[in-house]
Amino acid sequence: MIGLDALVKEWAALLRLQDWDIEARYVHAKEMAAPEGHDQTEVSAQVSSDTNFKYARIRVLHRDELAEDLAPVMYDVEHVVVHELLHLRFPDTEDEVAINQTASALLTLKRRK
Ligand SMILES: [Zn+2]
Repeated sequence: MIGLDALVKEWAALLRLQDWDIEARYVHAKEMAAPEGHDQTEVSAQVSSDTNFKYARIRVLHRDELAEDLAPVMYDVEHVVVHELLHLRFPDTEDEVAINQTASALLTLKRRK
């Protein structure tokens, strides 16, 4: 499994979240809160945070527990980490498409080098 700590450290610094205390770990599906109409195996990651204390906890679903049809598209761990960090950066948006597209754009730039 890809280590989460280094990814969080790298991207938190780039997104100027370095003063946050951000914990990330792999979890099982039962630890995920499924949005209405969805199964816990359809959620690749979630973040819970306390803006006042600048504390966040990112949960990333174990790869082999993600729904089979979603795994190929939704399991780029770095994308998942960037996505959740962007939620911390933009706490007022629930626009998942915008968050996803921004994460993709940042990763495209990084990986182009
Ligand atoms: Zn999201």
